[in-house]
Amino acid sequence: MANSILIKNGTIVTMDENDSIVTGDVYIRDGRIAEIGENIRTDADETIDARSCAVLPGFVQTHIHLCQTLFRGAADDLSLIDWLKKRVWPMEAAHTDVSIRASAQLGIAELIKGGTTCALTMETVRYTEEVLRVVQQTGFRATVGKCMMDKGDEVPPQLHEQTRASIDESLALIKKWHGAADGRIRCCFAPRFAVSCTRELLQEVSELAKQHGVSIHTHASENRTECEIVEQETSLRNITYLDSLGISGAQVVLAHCIHLDDDEMKSLARTGTNVAHCPSSNLKLGSGIARVAEMLERDISVSLGADGAPCNNRLDMFTEMRTAALLQKALNGPEVLPAARALRMATLDGARALGLDEEIGSIEIGKRADVAVVDLYQAHSSPTSDVVSALVYSAQASDVRATIIDGRVVMRDRALLTLDEQNVIDEANSEALALAKRAQISV
Ligand SMILES: [Zn+2]
Repeated sequence: MANSILIKNGTIVTMDENDSIVTGDVYIRDGRIAEIGENIRTDADETIDARSCAVLPGFVQTHIHLCQTLFRGAADDLSLIDWLKKRVWPMEAAHTDVSIRASAQLGIAELIKGGTTCALTMETVRYTEEVLRVVQQTGFRATVGKCMMDKGDEVPPQLHEQTRASIDESLALIKKWHGAADGRIRCCFAPRFAVSCTRELLQEVSELAKQHGVSIHTHASENRTECEIVEQETSLRNITYLDSLGISGAQVVLAHCIHLDDDEMKSLARTGTNVAHCPSSNLKLGSGIARVAEMLERDISVSLGADGAPCNNRLDMFTEMRTAALLQKALNGPEVLPAARALRMATLDGARALGLDEEIGSIEIGKRADVAVVDLYQAHSSPTSDVVSALVYSAQASDVRATIIDGRVVMRDRALLTLDEQNVIDEANSEALALAKRAQISV
């Protein structure tokens, strides 16, 4: 592995506190950003020519499911509860260690090729360690949580856990993997959602997360039926219920948060709880549109994620930035959620939601080198008088020329360097077919 990398002659979108955009070079040494400026070096172990390219911090997606990548196209046109019960749960239940590896490899291949360098991922109930191994081998940066499910109807037996066993397995993964690969790999607790978890489990997770200094990643208020079930069972609104159990605060990431009342909005703001907004998934599942502009006005932390492949069906941050901005304009007027804000949500705000903003999320000296180089010299993105506008409104995942994670080039000239892409696609296709058979789903 090269110890030093020189990215030359790019337009550097730093995402620093002044949103500085500078023309020049980025020099990376021993995994970190060492210098930024014009003609700073002539020599490095590896040089990347970034002429006509934007050089930006790699995207941070704060809600995905690597285990679901094999289900792409196998659960279309359903609403959340049917999507889960008829398709996604039976397919998660049918996973083997081999199929989950294929799923994680395919997901990471797509993420890296689209400039995503870090993700918060909720896995399924079993085989989470296989995903962690794939993260380790591919050089990807991730916070990984084993899905916790100790309650619910129509849950396949393979996904139904005893409370104690679920907590013990999560703790064992945290002990073994949290902070691995020099901090590139982190673990968290990932209770699926309030409908799938007992009060006892959620309460204990809240205490243990604080004790171990790890995040909690869950879904909340994505769908009206989900909110009604929680309200019937607890007599509390979903976010209020979670807050009453301690599932709130800076270490918590709640995916979706669409159906909120005013008190729930206030609670998110007061507790500093992070919201992961997944606009494409929300549209495709017909879940609704989160009031993101209002959240931002209330200083609620909002970052972005693609969610899983079966509800998007892309894992592409360019699509999410653009869709997030356009949706809020339709709701609130064209001035709302400008491109620079969307880009910040996709980078630094995501890093902050994961407690990683001291390390990643911007191109600043001393930070870990997670960088995407995006070629803007394309018919669909020219002319590029405004590089931020080009990145948010015109660019696409296939424009990413190089992706660097932790100072290691993992994709260069569209070629993956830590995965054999053809092999990954072949395996994904054959494993998906076999999995659909085991799950007795025709696709
Ligand atoms: Zn999700």
